[in-house]
Amino acid sequence: MLSGILKSRLVPRPLRIVLLLGLLTACAAAQAQFRVLDRQVIEARLEGFSRKNDKREAILKQMFVQSGCKDDKLSEETVSTKLPPNLICVLPGETDEIILVGAHSDHVEAGDGVVDNWSGASLLPSLYYSLSAVSRRHTFVFVGFTAEEKGMLGSDFYAGRLSPEQRARIKAMINMDTLGLGPTEVWATHADRSLLNALDNLAHAMKLPVSVMNVDQVGSSDSESFAKYKIPRITIHSVTQETWPILHSTKDKLDEIKMDDYYASYRLMAGYLAFLDTDLGQTATPQEKSSH
Ligand SMILES: [Zn+2]
Repeated sequence: MLSGILKSRLVPRPLRIVLLLGLLTACAAAQAQFRVLDRQVIEARLEGFSRKNDKREAILKQMFVQSGCKDDKLSEETVSTKLPPNLICVLPGETDEIILVGAHSDHVEAGDGVVDNWSGASLLPSLYYSLSAVSRRHTFVFVGFTAEEKGMLGSDFYAGRLSPEQRARIKAMINMDTLGLGPTEVWATHADRSLLNALDNLAHAMKLPVSVMNVDQVGSSDSESFAKYKIPRITIHSVTQETWPILHSTKDKLDEIKMDDYYASYRLMAGYLAFLDTDLGQTATPQEKSSH
């Protein structure tokens, strides 16, 4: 999470209140297929962090290989010779339409950066594994972004070097930043309406919590590098008023993670990505509905 100044109180509110079409696709959500890794694996990957940014990228790469993403499916993108690269894993689908899943792997000097954002980055290989059991309509691209904390350099570089045609093929950018401080939160004011609606449906179907926590006033994240190009995006996090001070401080350590909540966020994300694969482009948005 790229931090600014805390200007307003962060108060979570239920996602249901801001959405109108809650139940329309809950049945479809229940049919989304994906596999779920054991909690011990998710915890072990979180606990396997390094304090060094270049080492973190290397660990992430190793975890992708363990998860089955390797050879020509796994690549590094040099952003600057002074920075670890962006790490990119591709899960080919039946079409070249893309769902991009991102999380930054770097952290600031203070603390261990387990919360911000090894919590998000270390889930990428697990989500790859969760989705790779059955063939997908969309091609999934998982990216561990470098240097988010230096001004979203990695994601900005990644989005900027794509051609307009390549950008048009990205149907969704799902960003994870700072998970496990509590139940799953979503930055709703900076989320695509259809993606938000789908998240609400899926969370309801899986009986997992998600609430709205907007961070406009206090921070930013890699999703905004894609919003610049009008690519639909959503950021999933777990920050509240109470936990915000943990970020970018010496308190950012493993013991701040609530494992029950963290594991619930992993399961929600696995289900969400599988659901989006079948749901994206299928469900009309409220605006489209009313025009018919
Ligand atoms: Zn941060």
